[in-house]
Amino acid sequence: MSQDYFSLLVIYPREDNDYLNLLFMDAGMIGSEIIDPKTIEEYQKRAAEWELSNREELLRVQEKDLGQEITEGFMAQRMFFLTDKKSLAKLDRAERQVYEQYGETIQVIEEGIIDNSHWNETWRSFYKPLDVGKTIRILPAWMEEEGEGREVIKIDPGMAFGSGSHETTLVSLEFLEEMDLRNKAFLDLGTGSGILAIYAAMQGADPVEGTDIDPDAIRTAHKNAGIQDENLDIHFYVSDLLDRVEGSFDVVAANLLYPLLVRLLPDFHRILRPGAKIIFSGLLADQAEAIRSQACDLGYQVLETRIKGEWAGLVLEWKGQA
Ligand code: SAH
Repeated sequence: MSQDYFSLLVIYPREDNDYLNLLFMDAGMIGSEIIDPKTIEEYQKRAAEWELSNREELLRVQEKDLGQEITEGFMAQRMFFLTDKKSLAKLDRAERQVYEQYGETIQVIEEGIIDNSHWNETWRSFYKPLDVGKTIRILPAWMEEEGEGREVIKIDPGMAFGSGSHETTLVSLEFLEEMDLRNKAFLDLGTGSGILAIYAAMQGADPVEGTDIDPDAIRTAHKNAGIQDENLDIHFYVSDLLDRVEGSFDVVAANLLYPLLVRLLPDFHRILRPGAKIIFSGLLADQAEAIRSQACDLGYQVLETRIKGEWAGLVLEWKGQA
């Protein structure tokens, strides 16, 4: 894939990190690199993180990128967006909204179109194997390593979300690990790298489907399934939420942001079998409560809530009657 990307390098107050990420994700951000010595230190303290394995390399990249020091309390982030007209218009709207809200406190260091070699060169060096839950090891596809008793999921995240480095993916995997997936009809809604669908298929789920609104994600997911095991039988296809989904499922994983889950819920039961288990991730902790109560009103039972960092994951059960 030799595609151009629009890169935006900004410095902003660290406390606004979550909000700005949500806002820019909503505006189509397809990936980012955080440039923040403090975050790197915190990542490295947390063992259960498939994080930035090479601090020196990262700091070198930071200096090169920024050409200036980051003031105490601030951090920098390089964000990547697609370059088609629609994506750039969306980004432009988001930028204006940010300026209105933040004015001078957010500083754009650099913006413009780049080719994706920058991304490819730098991010690979930051990954290392990550153990998740009791039995899973996520391994970057270009590494050769034994699982040491763990089940290895090989992932080449490319530009798609779902390298395993994000709490929302980890919570989803933990929930899946605790379920019996054998012969269950499984749907991964917003599959990104395909990681959840691939794991479900490895655990014997059948049939397995993975959908995404982004065709690049679907391509990446296909590729990852092949890297894992060419015999995995997973149907990946493009769909805006449920638009093109026709089957019905015993287990659904939806690692999606709050506004999407709100949009999804009213119509969701159409694809659920009675007793279906649903994993919702991608919620900030305080949004989980809103989803919980909306889901209860619609006839779902909340089986579990799990918090990881600022994020919350839910397991719901569909009781079977709309
Ligand atoms: N399942 C992966 C990726 C989650 S990221 C994991 O758990 O790590 C969320 C994914 O949802 C992204 O790949 C994004 O492209 C996709 N997405 C965003 N809006 C969507 C929509 N309306 N319909 C389907 N997928 C969507």
